[in-house]
Amino acid sequence: MELNKLTAHELHQLLIDKKISAVEITNAVLDRIDQSEKSIGAYITVTREHALDSARTVDKKIADGQSIGVLGGIPIAIKDNICTKGIKTTCASKILENFVPPYDATVIQKLRAENPIIVGKANMDEFAMGGSTENSGFHVTHNPRDLERVPGGSSGGSAAAVASDEAIIALGSDTGGSIRQPASFCGVVGMKPTYGRVSRYGLVAYASSLDQIGPITKDVTDCAHVLNAIAGHDDMDSTSTAAPVPDYTQSLRVDVKGLKIGLPKEYFAAGMDSEVEQSIRNAASEYEKLGATIKTISLPHTDYAISAYYLIAPAEAATNLERYDGVSYGVRIDGVDVVDMMKNTRTALFGAEVKRRIMIGNYALSAGYYDAYYLKALKVRTLIQNDFVEAFKDVDVILAPTAPTPAFKIGEMIDDPLKMYLQDVCTVPLNLAGLPGISVPCGETSTGLPIGFQLIGRALDEETLIRAAYTFEQR
Ligand code: GLN
Repeated sequence: MELNKLTAHELHQLLIDKKISAVEITNAVLDRIDQSEKSIGAYITVTREHALDSARTVDKKIADGQSIGVLGGIPIAIKDNICTKGIKTTCASKILENFVPPYDATVIQKLRAENPIIVGKANMDEFAMGGSTENSGFHVTHNPRDLERVPGGSSGGSAAAVASDEAIIALGSDTGGSIRQPASFCGVVGMKPTYGRVSRYGLVAYASSLDQIGPITKDVTDCAHVLNAIAGHDDMDSTSTAAPVPDYTQSLRVDVKGLKIGLPKEYFAAGMDSEVEQSIRNAASEYEKLGATIKTISLPHTDYAISAYYLIAPAEAATNLERYDGVSYGVRIDGVDVVDMMKNTRTALFGAEVKRRIMIGNYALSAGYYDAYYLKALKVRTLIQNDFVEAFKDVDVILAPTAPTPAFKIGEMIDDPLKMYLQDVCTVPLNLAGLPGISVPCGETSTGLPIGFQLIGRALDEETLIRAAYTFEQR
C-alpha cells in the first residue's frame, strides 16, 4: 500500500486501528518528496526532522491511548506565506529569504491542536501575486499532471504537493483565485471560505480585504475536516466573524434534491476553452439528474470584476508591502544613506510582478487619481456584491468554471500580464464579494488535463458547497 496516495480520512482510520504508524506515513511522504521534487518543485522548504519528530509524538500519543484529531499524523504542506514559528516563511520572495517568524499563524496554532505533520512550506507566486507560480523568487513549480505546464497559482506549490502525493493535505491562500485555480489545474479540491470564516492572523498580507486561507485536499471529505480545524473567530483578527462554526462533516451527504443551482451566463464568455465549457455543462446535467434544478442567471457586472480587482488588490498590496524596507524584516542591501538603502533593497529583492503591482497601486491611490481609479473600483465592488445578493434570491448555489482554460504551458503567458490577469475572470468576483467557493474536479480534456468546476455559495454557507460538491464527487 502506498500510504502517500491515500486521503487523510483513510489514513486516520488505519492509524486508529493501529495498522500503520504516523512515522510510516511521514516516511512515505518524505520518500515521495525525495523522488519527485526535482521534477515538480512544490516546496521551498522541506521540514524533514521537524516532521519525523512530530510523527513520533503522534505515535507515542496513540500508544499511550490518547485520542488524536482526524488530522493527527497527517502530512500537510503549508503555503509559504503562512507564518510558522521557527520555520522559514519567505512568501517566495528574496526580500524574506531569511525570515523565521517568532510566532505561528492562528490557523497553524489551531492545526497543532490536532497534531498534523508539517512536511514543508509550499512554493507560490511571490507575495501571492500571480496565477502560475512562475513569479516565485526561487523556482518554478511544475504541474504533476503535465510537467511542461504550470500548476496554477498562487498556491501552486500546495496544489502540486497534494496532486503528486508529496503531501496528503495542504493550506493555501486565496485573494483572487489562488486556491481554486491551482486546485482545478492540478485535479484536486480547493476551497476559499467566506471572508472572515478563517483567521488571517499570521497570513502575510497581500490584499487584506480579499485574502482568505483555505484547504487544498484530495477529496471533499478531507476539505470538510481541514475547514473544521481552521475555521472560527479569532481575537487577533478583527475581521474574523463571531458566527458559530458548524461541523462541516455533517454536510458530507449525497443530497441535492430540490437544490436550486444557477449558471451565470456571463461566466461562459468568449475566450473560454470549449472543453472546459462542455465539462461544466455536463456537470450541470449531472446535478439535474441527481434532483437539483438548474437555472440560467445573470451577474451583470462580471465584466468589470477584473478591472476592479486589479486596482483594489494592488492598492492594498502597495500599502502592505511598504513594511519591507530593509529595516523591520528580512534581507537588507546597504546604501550611502537610509533612503538609498531602502531603494537598493526593494529594487534588488522584489520581483517584476511585485514591482508592477506596487506601482499600479500607488498610482491608483495617489492624489488626483484616487477618485478616478481606487474609489471607482470600490463602487464597482459594491455593484458586484449586489449582483450576488440578487442572484441568491433565486438560487442556493452558483455553478461556474473555476478557470477559463486548463493548465497552460510554463512560459506561455509570463510576458503578457494582461492575459494572465484575464485568467482570474471566474474567481475574483467571489473575493470582491467575500463569498465562499470550492473547486472540484469534474473532468479532463482530450489530452488528459484536469478540469475543475466552481461552486459559489452565500456568505457563511460553506455547508451547502460541501454537500453539493460531495454529492457530485460520489456520483
Ligand atoms: N491570480 C490572482 C492575482 O494574481 C490571484 C492571486 C491570489 O489569489 N493570491 O492576484
